[in-house]
Amino acid sequence: MRKKIVILFLILATAFLACGFAPKEEKSYIKWVDCNVPYQVLQRAYELDVKYHDSDKVEFDFEKSLAYLATKNGNKFNVKTDLKRLGELEKALLNDKKIDDFYGGNKYYKYYVESYEAIFSQFIGEYIDTSTNEKCYGLKNYHPIAANFWYSHYDDFGVSRSYGFKRKHLGHDIMGSVGTPIVAVEDGIITDIGWNKYGGWRLGIRSLDNKRSYYYAHLRKGHPYAENIKNGDKVAAGQVIGYLGVTGYSAKEDVNMKCKPHLHIGMQLIFDECQIQGPKEIWIDMYQITKFLSSNRAKVVKDGKNYKSINLKRSID
Ligand SMILES: [Zn+2]
Repeated sequence: MRKKIVILFLILATAFLACGFAPKEEKSYIKWVDCNVPYQVLQRAYELDVKYHDSDKVEFDFEKSLAYLATKNGNKFNVKTDLKRLGELEKALLNDKKIDDFYGGNKYYKYYVESYEAIFSQFIGEYIDTSTNEKCYGLKNYHPIAANFWYSHYDDFGVSRSYGFKRKHLGHDIMGSVGTPIVAVEDGIITDIGWNKYGGWRLGIRSLDNKRSYYYAHLRKGHPYAENIKNGDKVAAGQVIGYLGVTGYSAKEDVNMKCKPHLHIGMQLIFDECQIQGPKEIWIDMYQITKFLSSNRAKVVKDGKNYKSINLKRSID
């Protein structure tokens, strides 16, 4: 009897495993990223990237230089120390070193390269300046607030919030006037346009390489979005997508919150599609990133009730 039970068990277990219920090896992808690189360091690394873009001798890579620094400093940046280190790195590269020579085989370096590439891969590159039709190389992503509109901000990532349930603020708030045109930071595809009880009138933009999703929330009551935009549309970096407002924190649509008008902007990283929603979401602090982007703001002109962007940098893939 006992022997029969054991045999039955073995048959069932074999069938179970054969049917694909075998415990799967956990997929390996990045589960968390912190980005606190000060804008002065981002700016200097960017200048070096541009400086050596056409060089045959020196290969300077923006994201790899951040990964190099993060491996050295444990991803805890200090403006003075890390600017000095960038200078030392530049000297070494001028002396025939390659950036991968330092930490090429290091697992932390690999993690930081992948992480910083997920955040910044489309920030710098070739583009056509549509005001002159010239081909250029440089910063092509935009600050979310259109040029010549005031804003103010501070680093508010991670402070606690308490609507519905206690949770952390996983985005960045930029104060401004109601109606200020908001532009797309990066080229991408519109997702999730409409009302959400926290974000009010909001929309998402998924990057074309699928690694990032930007979230823009609390858009203007009565007139939240740019004309004729809908889910699935492709938008260009710098294109007007909506208007700053103060909507949200209500199950009822088109209701204002009781606080100062501001744009909530978030950047989410997606290494695996299971990270899109729920506890596996990875949100990046946009404070230093928007400071870095402040040198590239989209010019807009009024067009009836709307604004449209002019002279944009058009990305070349
Ligand atoms: Zn916010």
